[in-house]
Amino acid sequence: MPIYLANCIRSLCATAILPAILFTFSNTTKAHAAEAGVSRPLAVARATRLANLRYQLSFILKPHESSVAGTETLTFESKSAGDLSIDYRDGVVQSATLNGHSISTSLENGHLNLPALAGQNTLIVAFISNAAPAGKAITRYEDKDDGSEYFYTLFVPMDASMAFPCFDQPDLKATFILDIEHPANWSVIGNTAPVTASVNVKSTHTQFAETRPISTYLFSFTAGPFASLRSQKTSEPTLYVRSSQLARAQQEAPQVQRMTARAIAYFSSYFSQSFPFSKYDLVLIPGFPFGGMEHVGATFLNEDSILFRSTPTASDYFHRDILLLHETCHQWFGDLVTMRWFDDLWLKEGFAQYVAYKAMAELEPRSNAWKHFYEDIKPAAYGIDETQGTTPIFRNIPNLKDAKSAYGAIVYRKAPAVLKQLNYLLGDQAFRNGLRLYLKDHAYATAEWSDLIHAFEVAGDRLGHHHDVQSWAAAWILRRGMPQVEVTWSCKQGRIAGLTLHQEDVLKQGFLWPMSIQLFGETQAKFASAPVSPLTLRVDWSDANHVVTEALGRQCPVYLFTNFNDEGYGRFLLDPVSQSAMPSAVPNHDPLLHVMLWGALWDDVRLAKLKPRSFLNLALSNLPEDEQFDEAFIRIQGARMVKGLHSYVSTSTRNLLAPRVEKAFSDAMTNNHDLGLRIVNFRTFTAVAETPAGPQQLKQLLAGKLVVPGLILRPLDRWNLVGQLIAMDDPESQSVYAAEKEHDHSGET
Ligand SMILES: [Zn+2]
Repeated sequence: MPIYLANCIRSLCATAILPAILFTFSNTTKAHAAEAGVSRPLAVARATRLANLRYQLSFILKPHESSVAGTETLTFESKSAGDLSIDYRDGVVQSATLNGHSISTSLENGHLNLPALAGQNTLIVAFISNAAPAGKAITRYEDKDDGSEYFYTLFVPMDASMAFPCFDQPDLKATFILDIEHPANWSVIGNTAPVTASVNVKSTHTQFAETRPISTYLFSFTAGPFASLRSQKTSEPTLYVRSSQLARAQQEAPQVQRMTARAIAYFSSYFSQSFPFSKYDLVLIPGFPFGGMEHVGATFLNEDSILFRSTPTASDYFHRDILLLHETCHQWFGDLVTMRWFDDLWLKEGFAQYVAYKAMAELEPRSNAWKHFYEDIKPAAYGIDETQGTTPIFRNIPNLKDAKSAYGAIVYRKAPAVLKQLNYLLGDQAFRNGLRLYLKDHAYATAEWSDLIHAFEVAGDRLGHHHDVQSWAAAWILRRGMPQVEVTWSCKQGRIAGLTLHQEDVLKQGFLWPMSIQLFGETQAKFASAPVSPLTLRVDWSDANHVVTEALGRQCPVYLFTNFNDEGYGRFLLDPVSQSAMPSAVPNHDPLLHVMLWGALWDDVRLAKLKPRSFLNLALSNLPEDEQFDEAFIRIQGARMVKGLHSYVSTSTRNLLAPRVEKAFSDAMTNNHDLGLRIVNFRTFTAVAETPAGPQQLKQLLAGKLVVPGLILRPLDRWNLVGQLIAMDDPESQSVYAAEKEHDHSGET
């Protein structure tokens, strides 16, 4: 039964729902036990009732076994006596005593019933949990390279209760003492450093120091014959990797460790709070389902994201740095202060992603981090948000078992994008001070979005600038969709005589959004008699049509762009005058503005406000010049040209333009000075080759008669070539396919 109002952030409608909680859930926790998972009512009731939780856990890890035996001593205080559900599923409880008395070991819908006392309680349980190559909270990984085996845990969002009995909700933080019996040649990495290790002939017993209070989903361990790469510098984390990949890891470790140490230093300063836990390790896990997972004191990282399986490009290194920054940020934002419930997942993920780029922009100014943000983060968000299937950022999660459905582009892409807008609205100082306040007030505890709103408002007030963050959140967090922004303007005698911003709801729901954006007008000194600076103007507005009086009388620009520096979120179009000024007026000195103007032109194409043929001609004529920019831009521009040719122009236009497009990418894949650009041009050429000359070149590439300097074709590259030949119905495609099948045994088709 939906107790919570749809599309409602708890904080914003707390008064409306509180009586419902009290009425429905007072004084009973067992009544909800029959429901599988952890329902919101069960979580609320337990969080109200329980305190001072402490888990002592022992596991026995044996290679090649599909189960893990464990014992647990859990102590907690209960405000009241009576039935209490603890979560455990998938395993078997062998014995259980509560306060010295045996209790039933039977599980009901993933819960064990505890007849708890008021006051202090002690639960002692022996259990057997499952471990498997997939689908379990404890994963066994067998290394095909050397036959060794590794175990790792992944509990987010509520799978700790597949590994051991626990109150599996983020706001019942507890301290953990872990000890593990394992083969003598294995290492075990946990949330804290090991304190003792007793070695027997066949096994070792490793015990870890007690953790600070942490949520169950952030508790973790991994074990196996890991190789460790320790840095000489104490500020750098130890990197663990499976033994068979040691050589690859040795090449990458120095950069990875250095960037992580820089991330720790940056966030310690930015949050005004030193690293919150006793140690920090990085563990590379093969086949890890996410890029990374921010367990307290030990981030697990997907091995391929760090070691690269093919020749890395500049973009690959950039994204690896962003991943390291993102995960390191979580040690504060997520681990030190944890969301009370998974409906605030967007906040921790959006925040870590946004702040990772913010840190990168400061640590590596030459990386053009905000340009990457525009290219990597925003398209997926806009791509979903302009469709009727989109959702608001805030998603009500009635039961933690459904929390995995909240993961997606709206959380990982739109949330960071609107946090960038919030940062611009508040200003850097109020934004940072609000975060500092929030982390200080809720350290080693949990909090929710309303607490962060409050912290931002307090920080703003202290600086003398009150901001209504609640209204902002109502529009951006609770509502789905986005605005389309257009501008009309006119000049008289070289001065702006009128300038109006217009917004409309892309999904035609009639919504208006509060926005803080920067107008940019290129005045181009070359047309003026004396040097002039461009027009830049901040505009805060929320109406459908907004007259920008501050612009009146300013020098008439060559073109206007309404989302300078990409602070706003939405579709920002070029007016016809500005459109016709492109691309000769596109500045080369500002990479972000450069790619955004091309993006705005492409939006005009998609909305039939610019002829696709005109766009293709513009892009083609600028391609050689634009290659001074990075591979990301070429990749995106190439994709637009392919889409334009294949979906937007007539057959006759396609026949006319295809040879030019093909030749441009073919030339660039062999001649460009940069390997990354050659690779990106090669991939685009593979997708675009369709004239009679194209297939010949594809076949020459397969035969090794045509070579992209520095690129060794991997199986997937080869199959893409074959796939394009088949798509074009090339007469030799079937024989080429058969030959490739004979040749390739990697299974990477
Ligand atoms: Zn994250």
